[in-house]
Amino acid sequence: MSEFDLITRYFSQKFPKRDDVILGIGDDAALCTIPSDMQLAIAIDTLVEGIHFPNMTRPEDIGYKALAVNLSDMAAMGANPAWMTLVLTCPETNDVWLSKFSQGLRELAEIHNVSLIGGDTTAGPLTITVQITGFIPPNTALTRSGAQVGDGIFVTGTLGDAGLGLAALQKKVVLPHPVQQFVESRLHRPTPRLHEGQALRGIGSSAIDISDGLVADLEHILTASGVGASLQLERLPLSRALRDYLSLESAWNFALGSGDDYELCFTVPPSQEDALKNALSADAYTRIGTIESHHGLRCRDHNGRIFIPKQQGYQHFVKLKVSPRKPRSRSR
Ligand code: ADP
Ligand code: MG
Repeated sequence: MSEFDLITRYFSQKFPKRDDVILGIGDDAALCTIPSDMQLAIAIDTLVEGIHFPNMTRPEDIGYKALAVNLSDMAAMGANPAWMTLVLTCPETNDVWLSKFSQGLRELAEIHNVSLIGGDTTAGPLTITVQITGFIPPNTALTRSGAQVGDGIFVTGTLGDAGLGLAALQKKVVLPHPVQQFVESRLHRPTPRLHEGQALRGIGSSAIDISDGLVADLEHILTASGVGASLQLERLPLSRALRDYLSLESAWNFALGSGDDYELCFTVPPSQEDALKNALSADAYTRIGTIESHHGLRCRDHNGRIFIPKQQGYQHFVKLKVSPRKPRSRSR
């Protein structure tokens, strides 16, 4: 199959069509109409096989995740995604692989009405880059630099599931099949929190998506905002998978340090807490701490003891030690 056949077959059709795309795939550049009352939010992320996803990841999951991580950046800004471009570098043109990859990409594109408007295709080690453009009303974007002393710190969803999924794939921890499936799907198919991000416009003082682990990503907010923070470990939202199959300390280490969850971490001033309650349902987010003037990040247990996480954010080539939970009678 030639490069051109490949593009026609797998990428130029079947993706959502939008009225604001004047000219999509097939010319030297795409042409799109920008709403006159909006600013553009633009992000790009690359996934490299063996680094950002394990070798042997299913192609449909790779396609899904390549878009999900970019949509997560739109969510973290509070933007509405519209168009994407795709750079696909792959070792060979394998029909089955390409069809499944484009199917996974399309599945998520359809959910959020994102058009594929162009890209590039080359031969080489498997690498996927998606660039995404979204819209946002002027001066409403959630940036990393707006957190202020006294603001609450919140996260969406649960933390550490994707890290446990990776540990399970690497056979560092053994889980029952349904639990393994849950954590693997959290790893391969993260849910971009677009609704939450958009709902936080005008309410949140800062936001970031958690790609490298809560501690590492929250520290980006603290640095950009020139503040510090305290986290209460008991408040970390943990799925049943983490609560049932890891020791509490190990679960905290995953929640604080493992990457790939793509939940949002955001701050809200006390004056906006009622607005937050109206904007999002109570089970969509959890308060985990408070912004403070004293620089740095302190994680405390319920006795006020400081806990130092084992792994501070995702780092290449660094292994996270897993301690399984001590057996006890199942009470919940
Ligand atoms: P050029 O030589 O101008 O770079 P290409 O042959 O690379 O053109 O691409 C032809 C058309 O196909 C362009 O519109 C380009 O945006 C699109 N395209 C190429 N690769 C991809 C891809 N992986 N996904 C989506 N569109 C692609
Ligand atoms: Mg090209």
